This record gives sequence, C-alpha cells and structure tokens, in this order.
Amino acid sequence: MSDAPVRRIGDRDRKPELAIAGKLALEFDVHLHTLLSPDSEVPLDVYPALAIALGMKRIAITDHLDFDPREPGTTLTPHYRRVEAIEELRRTFGDRIEILLGVEISYDRPYDKEIRAHLASHHYDLTIGSVHPGIDSPFLRSRSAALAGRGADATADYFEETLAAAQSGLFDILGHMDYVRKYVYPHIPTAAFEAAPELYEPTLKALVETGTALEINSSGWRQRTGVPYPIPQAVRRYRELGGEYVVSGSDAHQPDWFALNFDRARDLLLESGFEELATKKWRSSGERWPIPR
Ligand SMILES: [Zn+2]
Ligand SMILES: [Zn+2]
Repeated sequence: MSDAPVRRIGDRDRKPELAIAGKLALEFDVHLHTLLSPDSEVPLDVYPALAIALGMKRIAITDHLDFDPREPGTTLTPHYRRVEAIEELRRTFGDRIEILLGVEISYDRPYDKEIRAHLASHHYDLTIGSVHPGIDSPFLRSRSAALAGRGADATADYFEETLAAAQSGLFDILGHMDYVRKYVYPHIPTAAFEAAPELYEPTLKALVETGTALEINSSGWRQRTGVPYPIPQAVRRYRELGGEYVVSGSDAHQPDWFALNFDRARDLLLESGFEELATKKWRSSGERWPIPR
C-alpha cells in the first residue's frame, strides 16, 4: 500500500501552500469548482496559476449544472458565461497550460431527456456525470442518521442511479462513484461498503461497456471517511473487468484542495494496474497520458 501521508483539512501540520509545495504526481486535475458553482468562491484564475506552478499540462474547470429546478446549480451560470470564462483564461494562461471547458452534471433519471438535449446542443470539452443526493434524497446528511445500523445495501437506490448514469453513455466520466458514503458516514461506515462489492459491480461493468471513464476522486482522503471515491477495491475491480479509462480529480472547492492527495491517487492507480490516464475521447484522438512512476 501507499506510504504517502494522508492529508486532511484541519491537519495542523498541513501547510496552507501545500498545493504549490506538493510535487507533481499526476499530469492533470479534471474536477475543479470556481465561483461559477454555488458552493465555491474560488476566482477563476486560481487553478490555472496553481497548475502552472506545479507543472501540470491540463486542467478542466467543471462547475455544477443541475436540472432539478429546486437546486441552486440549475440557473447559476448559463453556458455562454462558462464559455466566456474559459476563453478569458485561455487568453491569460493558454500559452502555458491547456484549459478545458468542463462541466459536472448532476445525473438523475427523471432529467435524462433534458440532460441529453442540453448536451446535444451545447459544447463542452469534458463532461462529468455525478449522482448527488438531491433535495428529496433519504441520504442527505440531515436524514441519514435514520440509516444507523443498516448495511450498505440501504443505499442501493444511489447505486441504481450511478448505474443509469454509466449506462446513459452521456458522459466522458462518472464522477465520485460512491459519493453516498460521504453522506451516510458514520451511520453506515466505509467498511460496510467494502463488504458489499455487489453494489458496485453493475455500475463498473456498465462503465466498461460504455467506455465511460472512472474518476479517482481524491476528495475522500481529505474528508471524514478518509477513503477516496470510489473505494480502492472498486478501482481494482474496474481494472479486472477490463476498465481502461481512468482520470484524477480533486473536486477542489478551495484553492488548497487543488490536486490534494494526488500522490496517493497515483499510487492507487499504479497498484491497481493502470499505466495511463485516459478518457475514451482522448485515447481515440491518440493522446497518451502515462502515469508517472
Ligand atoms: Zn460532485
Ligand atoms: Zn464536484
């Protein structure tokens, strides 16, 4: 196992300049939130500057887009504003780093048609589909105490949705596959999920079948669960099933979360048998992103 130190928000020994002080472990961070998301206040130029300081070659800005009209990510930032923001960043930083127009879309089956129509008529360089417990979800923090004592199978509805997201074929990447763990923790502990591979299996198979990339979302290492999304067992199983496409995202909502714990993500990927980061689209266009050893 990796002996890279786990760094969490609130660690007293963790330097605030860690993102810049850290070594370059992976060549891009494709999951980043800015003030164009309702839950982040990071100015747009922060991540390009950090990435250049680290020596990264590519980043993707992936602010939230929701289709449930009750969610704040629904109307906050129209597509044209996202395009303008990326064009401005490219004018400033484009000679030193590639900046992709990305998006993180909350996937929910009732909105499949609307999401499909949106993606058919709006261009993004990179799309992440993620399942987020919504306003009515039993997995919201405010309700999850009711699940105390239950097994991980109590979250089966969440995994049904990740399966549908993977099967939809709409996205380049499935984001933080077992994010529900964050919400139900500690009432349902991570060990319960590690003991329930059957929850993961259908979604992992659907990812392989549709050529959708699995995101190693490093945010779990800095959160209370201390385990990335998805759990390492699922990353290894995806590889066993023939999964080829993996990417790394820190899901930063603050500057010092940028690329945080990417040394651990790299170790996990190498241990799981991956040699390259890729999406199907990048691989098809001949791009190679070997994972540094
Ligand atoms: Zn998310
Ligand atoms: Zn995110």
